[in-house]
Amino acid sequence: MRRTVEPLRAVKGMNDRLPGEARAFARVEAEARRVFGLHGYGEVRTPMAEEAALFSRSIGEETDVVGKEMYVFPDRHGVPLALRPEGTAGAVRAYIEHKVATVEPVTRWFYLGPMFRHERPQKGRYRQFHQVGAELFGAASPEADAELIAMIHAFLGAIGLSGVRLQLNSIGDDACRPAYAAALQAFLRAHAAELCPDCQRRAETNPLRALDCKVPADRAILASAPEPGASLCGPCREHFDAVRGHLEVLGLSPEVNPRLVRGLDYYTRTTFEFLAGGELGSQNTVAAGGRYDKLVERLGGPAVPAVGFAAGIERLLLALGATEAAAEGSDLLVAALGGPARRRALVLAQAVRAAGLRAELDLRGGSLKSQMRYADRAGAAFALVLGDDELAAGKAKLRQMGPRGGGAPGDEIEVALDAVPAELRRRLRDVR
Ligand code: ATP
Ligand code: MG
Repeated sequence: MRRTVEPLRAVKGMNDRLPGEARAFARVEAEARRVFGLHGYGEVRTPMAEEAALFSRSIGEETDVVGKEMYVFPDRHGVPLALRPEGTAGAVRAYIEHKVATVEPVTRWFYLGPMFRHERPQKGRYRQFHQVGAELFGAASPEADAELIAMIHAFLGAIGLSGVRLQLNSIGDDACRPAYAAALQAFLRAHAAELCPDCQRRAETNPLRALDCKVPADRAILASAPEPGASLCGPCREHFDAVRGHLEVLGLSPEVNPRLVRGLDYYTRTTFEFLAGGELGSQNTVAAGGRYDKLVERLGGPAVPAVGFAAGIERLLLALGATEAAAEGSDLLVAALGGPARRRALVLAQAVRAAGLRAELDLRGGSLKSQMRYADRAGAAFALVLGDDELAAGKAKLRQMGPRGGGAPGDEIEVALDAVPAELRRRLRDVR
């Protein structure tokens, strides 16, 4: 028959994760939960859509994220909503909305989940991607920055990512940034003719953004621009030096990158990035963050300082080169022939699962021979053949299929049906 219906495809830049990849994802998420939990962080889950104004107010109108990449749409009443492009704005909104500051002097939150940006899809850059991130509210001291950065380092180590570089900078605060921004603006205006249209605009609206420009020609020009790190006021310099000192004590050696600004407007003082080696190219930033002492206030909350970060899970997995088997093979495949035997097999498989082991039936049925072939192909550790004779005797032959199980492939032992779960546990205990 001719096919008349074109199958639908996933939205460009939004990817399926089949079980093998999903497992690698889940492993990273589990390590995040574990490591962040050790540092006193609780998980916060905020909605995937927020009023668009939340992001323009926090991230900034002039940023690429808000200006070019955000998915914005009117809801059925015409209220502009946005799919969240990052996690901090929603976390801060929730922190204010639930008056968390009134009950907790210091709050440690982490989050995990999908983020949405309409970017050009390429390796390490997608339209739906996933971040794991954390926010530490209520601590202005350099210890907070250092603790958070060291936690990220521990997390990266826990998932097996070694050889990461840590870059650190300070972009100053309300006391010293205006003078720096003016100096940078003068520089940008002087070079306006050679800069991209975005940077020409940034020169007038938000000069610091220009340092984050991805256009190679602009980057070359900006290499000789004044640097924020060079014009810090006393307290910002002190804070920065203390963060570096604490990190050294913690065994991390940050490289100072004097032009490191982040792509979002809300940062003050510390900014940092973790870079992975390898072939991720300009998508090699796996985690990034910094301090944002004014954001809570800017969004209508109390004056609470904060520091946070986010890591892209897809990029972590690319950097890890993580590949996983689609699923682990079963511990037991029950091959059964005939109605009564197949019913007994259903019950047996359930008992094995209740004992904490993976059990599977060949649901296609078919001959015992074909069911055993399936057991082999599916990577089962053991197979058990159940027919009328075995049912009558109340016992069956447990056959080791692969290397797992203590004996050799092909070994068979006779086991009472009721004893199968215990026997499997005994044989697989040390192997898993
Ligand atoms: P980049 O400079 O690569 O565009 P960014 O400054 O926009 O990154 P952040 O907003 O700081 O990134 O997000 C933190 C992390 O989230 C990044 O370091 C990256 O690992 C990941 N990330 C950001 N955008 C994407 C994307 N479109 N696809 C996949 N991962 C992303
Ligand atoms: Mg970006």
